[in-house]
Amino acid sequence: MQSDEIQTPLRFVVTVDTEADDAWLHPDAVNVTNIRQLDRFQDLCDKYDVVPTYLLAYECATRDEALATLIPLAEKRRCEIGHHLHVWTTPPFQNEGPNGVDLDWIQAFQFQLPDSLFAEKAEALRHAIENSFGHSPTSHRAGRWGIDQRTVDWLASAGFVVETSMRTAIRLRNFPPGVESSSQNGRHIAAAEYELHKNPYFWPVESPSPACRSIVEVPATVDVRNALASTLFVPYLRSKLPGEFFLFKVYRKFAGLNMLSPDPGYSPGELPRIIERAIRRGVTVINLMFHSSELALHCSPFTKTQQDVDSVWRHLEEAFNYCQVRGIASAGISDVARLACEHAESG
Ligand SMILES: [Zn+2]
Repeated sequence: MQSDEIQTPLRFVVTVDTEADDAWLHPDAVNVTNIRQLDRFQDLCDKYDVVPTYLLAYECATRDEALATLIPLAEKRRCEIGHHLHVWTTPPFQNEGPNGVDLDWIQAFQFQLPDSLFAEKAEALRHAIENSFGHSPTSHRAGRWGIDQRTVDWLASAGFVVETSMRTAIRLRNFPPGVESSSQNGRHIAAAEYELHKNPYFWPVESPSPACRSIVEVPATVDVRNALASTLFVPYLRSKLPGEFFLFKVYRKFAGLNMLSPDPGYSPGELPRIIERAIRRGVTVINLMFHSSELALHCSPFTKTQQDVDSVWRHLEEAFNYCQVRGIASAGISDVARLACEHAESG
């Protein structure tokens, strides 16, 4: 346990990156057909008293086809709407392609953008959500997990309370060439670090903001089967000595690092097992994540067959059922962050 982790009562959060179809292989196509599946998904959530958080990319906050599903969900059902920045689909565009994409920044990490362009895109998405849903989002996940200190400072200045782009013991792997963990004017790119937090913690804001001095980070839950591996490997991995990426592969296999996600490659019953092991390791906020596009056939690299799609839905139902049977209450991620703040104050 890291010393600054906040202990809360057990809670279950489900964070859904709500974005265009297959942003992995077709980032410049920007279709939102997968969003139709969210009605059925919300029905599943309601059945098990799960409160999902839909973290929206720009296309889902603005296109009529997506809003036809999302606005009724936000108005009538138990869910939270948050902010998920894909910089290539968010204006202003430096080099606009035919489908509403910024060809200069396809699949870029937000920490790669110049300061002014980052702030304009982040604000454009915040404003689009406010326009479509009537209130400003308070939760955020960086596109492709690329979180940095600049984003956290911006979140605090824009009234956010929670951030969820860190993954226990996993760091960014497919780094663009030339990006170092603290490059770009010395800015801290947190996503490049091996982080061992597994529960909420306060992430201090560096540029002082009158509104808020910190953002609550709620890490995505990762199954660390072999905690000893983390203890042994992470100091070396953090030292950035030669052979780091080879060692990371060995480490990942040895430590059994698997995301709490409905991966069709997992065997039946795997998500309840990951949740149970997480609780035994002292995780109090179980954070299951996936992408909306994984709910639909041919909309993600993980759902190429109907069997894959069925497996995603089965894993989700198994996890939801397990949390309900075990009596773990679910809440939107901002409510969980507020609960963490209360516990930090009282404890
Ligand atoms: Zn995304």
